[in-house]
Amino acid sequence: MQDEVLVLGGGVAGCAASIALARKGRSVTLLEREPTPRHKICGEFLSGEALEDLHALGIDIASLGAVPINYVRLAAARRAAEAPLPFPAASLTRKTLDTALIATAIAAGVRVQRGRSVQSLKRTSANLWQATLDDGAIYEAPTAFLATGKHDLRGHARPKDPHHWVAFKMYYRLSAAQTIDLADASELTLYAGGYGGIQPVEDGVVNFCCVVQRSYFARAGFRWEGLLANMQRDCPHLAMRLDGAEPLARKPIAVTHIPYGYLRRTTEEDLYCIGDQAAVIPSFTGDGISIALHTARSAAAAYLAGEPAQAFQPKLRAAMLPQMRLAEAAANGLNNALARVVLPFCLRVWPGAMRVTARLTRVTQPASVAPQVFAN
Ligand SMILES: Cc1cc2nc3c(=O)[nH]c(=O)nc-3n(C[C@H](O)[C@H](O)[C@H](O)COP(=O)(O)OP(=O)(O)OC[C@H]3O[C@@H](n4cnc5c(N)ncnc54)[C@H](O)[C@@H]3O)c2cc1C
Repeated sequence: MQDEVLVLGGGVAGCAASIALARKGRSVTLLEREPTPRHKICGEFLSGEALEDLHALGIDIASLGAVPINYVRLAAARRAAEAPLPFPAASLTRKTLDTALIATAIAAGVRVQRGRSVQSLKRTSANLWQATLDDGAIYEAPTAFLATGKHDLRGHARPKDPHHWVAFKMYYRLSAAQTIDLADASELTLYAGGYGGIQPVEDGVVNFCCVVQRSYFARAGFRWEGLLANMQRDCPHLAMRLDGAEPLARKPIAVTHIPYGYLRRTTEEDLYCIGDQAAVIPSFTGDGISIALHTARSAAAAYLAGEPAQAFQPKLRAAMLPQMRLAEAAANGLNNALARVVLPFCLRVWPGAMRVTARLTRVTQPASVAPQVFAN
Protein backbone atom coordinates (compact mmCIF):
# COMPACT_ATOMS: atom_id res chain seq x y z
CA MET A 1 0.00 0.00 0.00
CA GLN A 2 1.31 3.45 -0.90
CA ASP A 3 0.86 6.47 1.35
CA GLU A 4 0.95 10.14 0.37
CA VAL A 5 3.99 10.86 2.54
CA LEU A 6 6.94 8.84 3.79
CA VAL A 7 8.72 10.23 6.87
CA LEU A 8 12.23 8.92 7.49
CA GLY A 9 13.21 9.10 11.17
CA GLY A 10 10.89 9.14 14.18
CA GLY A 11 12.63 11.61 16.49
CA VAL A 12 11.41 15.11 17.28
CA ALA A 13 11.15 16.47 13.73
CA GLY A 14 9.83 13.29 12.06
CA CYS A 15 7.11 12.78 14.69
CA ALA A 16 6.08 16.45 14.71
CA ALA A 17 5.77 16.58 10.90
CA SER A 18 3.85 13.31 10.67
CA ILE A 19 1.43 14.39 13.42
CA ALA A 20 0.75 17.69 11.60
CA LEU A 21 0.19 15.90 8.27
CA ALA A 22 -1.97 13.08 9.66
CA ARG A 23 -4.17 15.56 11.55
CA LYS A 24 -4.88 17.23 8.19
CA GLY A 25 -6.03 13.92 6.76
CA ARG A 26 -2.86 12.92 4.89
CA SER A 27 -1.82 9.25 4.89
CA VAL A 28 1.66 8.99 6.39
CA THR A 29 4.11 6.15 7.02
CA LEU A 30 6.94 6.90 9.46
CA LEU A 31 10.04 4.68 9.43
CA GLU A 32 12.13 4.66 12.64
CA ARG A 33 15.13 2.42 13.05
CA GLU A 34 14.94 1.98 16.84
CA PRO A 35 12.37 -0.55 18.09
CA THR A 36 11.72 1.64 21.18
CA PRO A 37 12.87 5.15 22.20
CA ARG A 38 16.22 5.17 23.98
CA HIS A 39 18.50 7.73 25.57
CA LYS A 40 19.98 10.14 23.01
CA ILE A 41 22.83 12.61 23.21
CA CYS A 42 21.09 15.84 24.18
CA GLY A 43 21.22 18.41 26.98
CA GLU A 44 17.42 17.92 27.21
CA PHE A 45 16.75 21.63 27.66
CA LEU A 46 13.39 22.71 26.21
CA SER A 47 13.29 26.37 25.25
CA GLY A 48 10.16 28.53 25.27
CA GLU A 49 9.56 27.91 21.57
CA ALA A 50 9.87 24.15 22.03
CA LEU A 51 7.33 24.33 24.86
CA GLU A 52 4.89 26.18 22.60
CA ASP A 53 5.22 23.68 19.78
CA LEU A 54 4.91 20.67 22.09
CA HIS A 55 1.84 22.23 23.69
CA ALA A 56 0.30 22.75 20.22
CA LEU A 57 0.95 19.06 19.44
CA GLY A 58 -1.01 18.19 22.59
CA ILE A 59 1.99 16.98 24.59
CA ASP A 60 1.67 17.84 28.27
CA ILE A 61 5.29 17.86 29.38
CA ALA A 62 4.42 18.69 33.01
CA SER A 63 2.48 15.43 33.33
CA LEU A 64 5.52 13.60 31.88
CA GLY A 65 7.62 14.87 34.79
CA ALA A 66 9.41 17.79 33.07
CA VAL A 67 11.34 20.09 35.40
CA PRO A 68 10.92 23.90 35.09
CA ILE A 69 14.19 25.72 34.39
CA ASN A 70 14.18 29.36 35.45
CA TYR A 71 17.86 30.38 35.52
CA VAL A 72 20.93 30.11 33.36
CA ARG A 73 24.33 30.00 35.07
CA LEU A 74 27.65 30.43 33.27
CA ALA A 75 30.81 29.04 34.89
CA ALA A 76 34.35 29.43 33.59
CA ALA A 77 37.65 29.15 35.40
CA ARG A 78 36.80 30.11 38.99
CA ARG A 79 33.84 32.39 38.27
CA ALA A 80 30.13 31.76 37.87
CA ALA A 81 27.33 34.19 37.05
CA GLU A 82 23.62 33.67 36.78
CA ALA A 83 20.62 35.37 35.22
CA PRO A 84 16.92 34.57 35.05
CA LEU A 85 15.92 33.09 31.69
CA PRO A 86 13.90 35.58 29.65
CA PHE A 87 11.47 32.87 28.53
CA PRO A 88 9.79 29.83 30.12
CA ALA A 89 11.93 26.70 29.84
CA ALA A 90 12.00 23.12 31.09
CA SER A 91 13.95 19.91 30.83
CA LEU A 92 12.80 16.39 30.06
CA THR A 93 14.73 13.27 29.06
CA ARG A 94 14.64 12.49 25.37
CA LYS A 95 13.54 8.96 26.10
CA THR A 96 10.36 10.28 27.75
CA LEU A 97 9.81 12.99 25.13
CA ASP A 98 10.35 10.66 22.15
CA THR A 99 8.02 8.06 23.71
CA ALA A 100 5.28 10.69 24.01
CA LEU A 101 5.86 11.94 20.45
CA ILE A 102 5.64 8.44 18.95
CA ALA A 103 2.45 7.73 20.94
CA THR A 104 0.92 11.01 19.71
CA ALA A 105 1.83 10.14 16.10
CA ILE A 106 0.16 6.73 16.41
CA ALA A 107 -2.94 8.34 17.95
CA ALA A 108 -3.04 10.81 15.03
CA GLY A 109 -3.23 7.89 12.59
CA VAL A 110 0.39 7.79 11.39
CA ARG A 111 1.48 4.30 10.35
CA VAL A 112 4.54 4.05 12.58
CA GLN A 113 6.99 1.33 11.60
CA ARG A 114 9.59 0.83 14.34
CA GLY A 115 12.79 -1.16 14.23
CA ARG A 116 12.97 -0.37 10.48
CA SER A 117 16.31 1.07 9.35
CA VAL A 118 16.37 2.91 6.02
CA GLN A 119 19.50 2.09 4.02
CA SER A 120 18.92 4.32 1.00
CA LEU A 121 16.48 6.81 -0.46
CA LYS A 122 16.18 7.41 -4.19
CA ARG A 123 13.82 8.90 -6.74
CA THR A 124 12.23 6.39 -9.13
CA SER A 125 11.38 6.91 -12.78
CA ALA A 126 7.72 7.04 -11.68
CA ASN A 127 8.55 10.17 -9.60
CA LEU A 128 8.23 8.41 -6.27
CA TRP A 129 10.61 8.50 -3.32
CA GLN A 130 11.72 4.94 -2.66
CA ALA A 131 13.19 3.93 0.72
CA THR A 132 15.00 0.62 0.86
CA LEU A 133 15.32 -0.90 4.33
CA ASP A 134 18.14 -3.03 5.71
CA ASP A 135 16.02 -6.17 5.27
CA GLY A 136 15.39 -5.31 1.61
CA ALA A 137 11.79 -4.10 2.14
CA ILE A 138 10.76 -1.15 -0.01
CA TYR A 139 8.45 1.77 0.81
CA GLU A 140 7.39 4.34 -1.78
CA ALA A 141 5.49 7.64 -1.71
CA PRO A 142 5.28 10.74 -3.91
CA THR A 143 6.65 12.93 -1.10
CA ALA A 144 9.28 12.26 1.58
CA PHE A 145 10.34 14.11 4.73
CA LEU A 146 13.98 13.49 5.66
CA ALA A 147 14.27 13.54 9.48
CA THR A 148 17.09 11.13 10.34
CA GLY A 149 18.73 13.65 12.71
CA LYS A 150 22.46 13.15 13.15
CA HIS A 151 22.51 10.20 10.77
CA ASP A 152 22.95 10.78 7.06
CA LEU A 153 21.41 8.50 4.46
CA ARG A 154 23.53 7.29 1.58
CA GLY A 155 23.31 9.85 -1.22
CA HIS A 156 22.01 12.59 1.12
CA ALA A 157 25.08 13.26 3.30
CA ARG A 158 25.74 16.65 4.88
CA PRO A 159 29.30 18.14 4.83
CA LYS A 160 31.84 16.73 7.29
CA ASP A 161 32.45 18.43 10.65
CA PRO A 162 35.84 20.19 10.26
CA HIS A 163 36.30 20.67 14.03
CA HIS A 164 35.84 16.98 14.92
CA TRP A 165 33.48 17.59 17.82
CA VAL A 166 32.80 14.74 20.23
CA ALA A 167 29.73 14.85 22.49
CA PHE A 168 28.95 12.87 25.64
CA LYS A 169 25.92 12.52 27.87
CA MET A 170 25.89 11.10 31.38
CA TYR A 171 23.27 11.03 34.13
CA TYR A 172 24.14 11.65 37.79
CA ARG A 173 22.41 11.87 41.13
CA LEU A 174 24.01 14.88 42.84
CA SER A 175 24.70 15.13 46.56
CA ALA A 176 21.86 16.71 48.56
CA ALA A 177 23.80 19.97 48.98
CA GLN A 178 24.62 20.24 45.25
CA THR A 179 21.03 19.42 44.27
CA ILE A 180 19.85 22.38 46.33
CA ASP A 181 22.60 24.62 44.96
CA LEU A 182 21.90 23.71 41.30
CA ALA A 183 18.15 24.20 41.91
CA ASP A 184 16.16 25.20 38.81
CA ALA A 185 19.15 26.32 36.73
CA SER A 186 20.73 25.20 33.50
CA GLU A 187 24.49 25.60 33.95
CA LEU A 188 26.94 26.12 31.14
CA THR A 189 30.52 25.16 32.06
CA LEU A 190 33.40 26.25 29.81
CA TYR A 191 36.76 24.51 29.19
CA ALA A 192 39.76 25.04 26.96
CA GLY A 193 38.38 22.65 24.33
CA GLY A 194 34.60 22.87 24.56
CA TYR A 195 31.69 23.30 26.94
CA GLY A 196 29.14 21.34 28.91
CA GLY A 197 25.66 21.76 30.28
CA ILE A 198 24.34 20.47 33.56
CA GLN A 199 20.69 20.60 34.59
CA PRO A 200 18.05 18.65 36.50
CA VAL A 201 15.71 16.33 34.60
CA GLU A 202 12.84 14.24 35.97
CA ASP A 203 13.06 11.93 39.03
CA GLY A 204 15.81 13.88 40.81
CA VAL A 205 18.37 13.01 38.14
CA VAL A 206 20.83 15.47 36.57
CA ASN A 207 21.91 15.49 32.92
CA PHE A 208 25.54 16.36 32.18
CA CYS A 209 26.10 16.75 28.45
CA CYS A 210 29.33 18.09 26.99
CA VAL A 211 30.84 18.83 23.60
CA VAL A 212 34.62 18.87 23.19
CA GLN A 213 37.07 19.11 20.34
CA ARG A 214 38.73 15.84 19.45
CA SER A 215 42.16 17.28 20.35
CA TYR A 216 40.93 17.98 23.92
CA PHE A 217 39.64 14.41 24.18
CA ALA A 218 42.96 13.16 22.77
CA ARG A 219 44.82 14.98 25.58
CA ALA A 220 42.79 12.83 27.99
CA GLY A 221 44.00 9.70 26.19
CA PHE A 222 40.55 9.24 24.62
CA ARG A 223 39.26 8.12 28.01
CA TRP A 224 36.09 9.43 29.67
CA GLU A 225 37.62 9.38 33.18
CA GLY A 226 40.57 11.49 31.98
CA LEU A 227 38.31 13.88 30.09
CA LEU A 228 36.06 14.38 33.10
CA ALA A 229 39.10 15.05 35.30
CA ASN A 230 40.42 17.64 32.79
CA MET A 231 37.05 19.39 32.54
CA GLN A 232 36.86 19.60 36.34
CA ARG A 233 40.41 20.95 36.50
CA ASP A 234 39.59 23.61 33.86
CA CYS A 235 36.29 24.50 35.50
CA PRO A 236 36.36 24.05 39.30
CA HIS A 237 32.64 24.89 39.39
CA LEU A 238 31.99 21.54 37.64
CA ALA A 239 34.25 19.77 40.15
CA MET A 240 32.19 21.30 42.97
CA ARG A 241 28.92 20.26 41.29
CA LEU A 242 30.01 16.65 40.80
CA ASP A 243 31.61 16.30 44.23
CA GLY A 244 29.88 13.30 45.83
CA ALA A 245 27.68 12.70 42.77
CA GLU A 246 26.63 9.17 41.89
CA PRO A 247 27.07 8.29 38.19
CA LEU A 248 23.97 6.45 36.98
CA ALA A 249 25.72 4.53 34.19
CA ARG A 250 29.10 2.89 33.83
CA LYS A 251 29.94 4.96 30.75
CA PRO A 252 28.39 7.99 29.02
CA ILE A 253 26.79 7.73 25.59
CA ALA A 254 28.81 9.48 22.91
CA VAL A 255 28.53 10.76 19.36
CA THR A 256 31.11 12.24 16.96
CA HIS A 257 31.12 14.41 13.83
CA ILE A 258 28.44 17.00 14.55
CA PRO A 259 28.29 19.50 11.65
CA TYR A 260 27.53 22.60 13.77
CA GLY A 261 26.48 25.58 11.69
CA TYR A 262 25.09 23.43 8.87
CA LEU A 263 22.10 24.99 7.07
CA ARG A 264 20.77 23.06 4.07
CA ARG A 265 20.73 25.20 0.93
CA THR A 266 18.68 23.15 -1.50
CA THR A 267 16.78 19.92 -1.82
CA GLU A 268 15.32 17.66 -4.46
CA GLU A 269 11.79 17.55 -5.83
CA ASP A 270 9.22 16.56 -3.16
CA LEU A 271 11.87 16.00 -0.48
CA TYR A 272 11.44 18.22 2.62
CA CYS A 273 14.46 18.17 4.97
CA ILE A 274 13.74 18.93 8.62
CA GLY A 275 15.35 18.90 12.07
CA ASP A 276 19.11 18.31 12.10
CA GLN A 277 18.83 17.46 8.40
CA ALA A 278 17.86 21.11 7.81
CA ALA A 279 20.02 22.92 10.38
CA VAL A 280 22.46 22.12 13.20
CA ILE A 281 22.74 24.94 15.76
CA PRO A 282 25.54 24.94 18.40
CA SER A 283 24.33 22.88 21.34
CA PHE A 284 24.89 25.54 24.03
CA THR A 285 21.84 27.46 22.73
CA GLY A 286 19.59 24.55 23.78
CA ASP A 287 17.61 25.24 20.63
CA GLY A 288 17.98 22.07 18.52
CA ILE A 289 14.63 20.64 19.63
CA SER A 290 12.81 23.89 18.98
CA ILE A 291 14.40 24.05 15.52
CA ALA A 292 13.36 20.44 14.86
CA LEU A 293 9.78 21.30 15.85
CA HIS A 294 9.80 24.60 13.95
CA THR A 295 11.21 23.12 10.71
CA ALA A 296 8.76 20.19 10.94
CA ARG A 297 5.80 22.52 11.41
CA SER A 298 6.93 24.84 8.59
CA ALA A 299 7.61 21.99 6.17
CA ALA A 300 4.25 20.33 6.88
CA ALA A 301 2.50 23.69 6.34
CA ALA A 302 4.41 24.22 3.08
CA TYR A 303 3.48 20.74 1.82
CA LEU A 304 -0.18 21.21 2.78
CA ALA A 305 -0.23 24.60 1.03
CA GLY A 306 1.25 23.04 -2.12
CA GLU A 307 4.60 24.87 -1.80
CA PRO A 308 7.24 22.74 -3.57
CA ALA A 309 10.11 21.47 -1.42
CA GLN A 310 12.59 23.15 -3.76
CA ALA A 311 11.02 26.53 -2.99
CA PHE A 312 10.53 25.84 0.72
CA GLN A 313 14.09 24.75 1.63
CA PRO A 314 15.98 27.93 0.55
CA LYS A 315 13.27 30.07 2.16
CA LEU A 316 13.72 28.19 5.44
CA ARG A 317 17.46 28.71 5.20
CA ALA A 318 17.12 32.46 4.58
CA ALA A 319 14.80 32.82 7.58
CA MET A 320 17.20 30.97 9.90
CA LEU A 321 20.53 32.29 8.62
CA PRO A 322 21.02 35.43 10.80
CA GLN A 323 20.37 33.71 14.12
CA MET A 324 22.37 30.63 13.11
CA ARG A 325 25.39 32.79 12.32
CA LEU A 326 24.99 34.68 15.59
CA ALA A 327 24.83 31.41 17.52
CA GLU A 328 28.00 30.26 15.73
CA ALA A 329 29.79 33.51 16.57
CA ALA A 330 28.74 33.13 20.22
CA ALA A 331 30.01 29.52 20.18
CA ASN A 332 33.38 30.72 18.85
CA GLY A 333 33.44 33.26 21.68
CA LEU A 334 32.92 30.49 24.24
CA ASN A 335 35.93 28.69 22.79
CA ASN A 336 38.12 31.77 22.97
CA ALA A 337 40.56 31.66 25.90
CA LEU A 338 40.29 35.36 26.82
CA ALA A 339 36.50 35.31 26.52
CA ARG A 340 36.36 32.34 28.88
CA VAL A 341 38.17 34.32 31.55
CA VAL A 342 36.33 37.60 30.99
CA LEU A 343 32.76 36.38 30.33
CA PRO A 344 31.63 35.39 33.81
CA PHE A 345 33.22 38.54 35.24
CA CYS A 346 31.28 40.72 32.77
CA LEU A 347 28.13 38.78 33.43
CA ARG A 348 28.50 39.29 37.15
CA VAL A 349 28.60 43.02 36.52
CA TRP A 350 25.87 42.91 33.89
CA PRO A 351 23.83 39.71 34.09
CA GLY A 352 21.37 41.20 31.60
CA ALA A 353 23.90 40.36 28.84
CA MET A 354 23.07 36.72 29.25
CA ARG A 355 19.40 37.51 28.75
CA VAL A 356 20.18 39.43 25.57
CA THR A 357 22.32 36.58 24.20
CA ALA A 358 19.64 34.05 25.05
CA ARG A 359 17.08 36.10 23.12
CA LEU A 360 19.28 36.81 20.11
CA THR A 361 20.22 33.20 19.54
CA ARG A 362 16.59 32.02 19.52
CA VAL A 363 15.89 30.97 15.96
CA THR A 364 12.13 31.03 16.28
CA GLN A 365 10.60 34.02 17.99
CA PRO A 366 8.53 33.40 21.12
CA ALA A 367 4.81 34.02 20.71
CA SER A 368 3.41 36.81 22.85
CA VAL A 369 1.40 34.36 24.96
CA ALA A 370 3.42 31.43 26.28
CA PRO A 371 1.56 28.25 27.19
CA GLN A 372 0.94 27.60 30.88
CA VAL A 373 3.15 24.53 31.23
CA PHE A 374 3.47 24.25 34.98
CA ALA A 375 0.75 25.03 37.47
CA ASN A 376 1.70 27.93 39.74
C1 LIG B 1 25.66 17.45 22.58
C2 LIG B 1 24.31 17.91 22.19
C3 LIG B 1 23.49 18.53 23.12
C4 LIG B 1 22.24 19.00 22.74
N1 LIG B 1 21.45 19.59 23.67
C5 LIG B 1 20.25 20.10 23.32
C6 LIG B 1 19.41 20.71 24.28
O1 LIG B 1 19.72 20.77 25.47
N2 LIG B 1 18.23 21.23 23.84
C7 LIG B 1 17.85 21.18 22.55
O2 LIG B 1 16.78 21.71 22.20
N3 LIG B 1 18.61 20.56 21.61
C8 LIG B 1 19.79 20.00 21.97
N4 LIG B 1 20.54 19.35 21.04
C9 LIG B 1 20.06 19.22 19.68
C10 LIG B 1 18.91 18.22 19.53
O3 LIG B 1 19.21 17.01 20.19
C11 LIG B 1 18.67 17.92 18.04
O4 LIG B 1 18.75 19.12 17.31
C12 LIG B 1 17.29 17.29 17.81
O5 LIG B 1 17.22 16.05 18.44
C13 LIG B 1 17.05 17.12 16.32
O6 LIG B 1 15.84 16.42 16.11
P1 LIG B 1 15.72 15.46 14.85
O7 LIG B 1 14.32 14.99 14.83
O8 LIG B 1 16.30 16.12 13.66
O9 LIG B 1 16.71 14.25 15.21
P2 LIG B 1 16.51 13.10 16.29
O10 LIG B 1 15.64 13.54 17.38
O11 LIG B 1 17.88 12.61 16.59
O12 LIG B 1 15.72 11.97 15.51
C14 LIG B 1 16.24 11.31 14.38
C15 LIG B 1 15.59 9.94 14.35
O13 LIG B 1 15.92 9.28 13.12
C16 LIG B 1 16.18 7.92 13.38
N5 LIG B 1 17.02 7.42 12.29
C17 LIG B 1 18.30 7.73 12.04
N6 LIG B 1 18.75 7.08 10.97
C18 LIG B 1 17.70 6.32 10.52
C19 LIG B 1 17.54 5.42 9.46
N7 LIG B 1 18.55 5.14 8.63
N8 LIG B 1 16.33 4.81 9.28
C20 LIG B 1 15.29 5.07 10.13
N9 LIG B 1 15.40 5.91 11.18
C21 LIG B 1 16.59 6.55 11.37
C22 LIG B 1 16.89 7.93 14.72
O14 LIG B 1 16.82 6.68 15.37
C23 LIG B 1 16.13 9.02 15.45
O15 LIG B 1 15.06 8.53 16.24
C24 LIG B 1 21.79 18.84 21.40
C25 LIG B 1 22.61 18.20 20.47
C26 LIG B 1 23.85 17.72 20.86
C27 LIG B 1 24.71 17.04 19.84
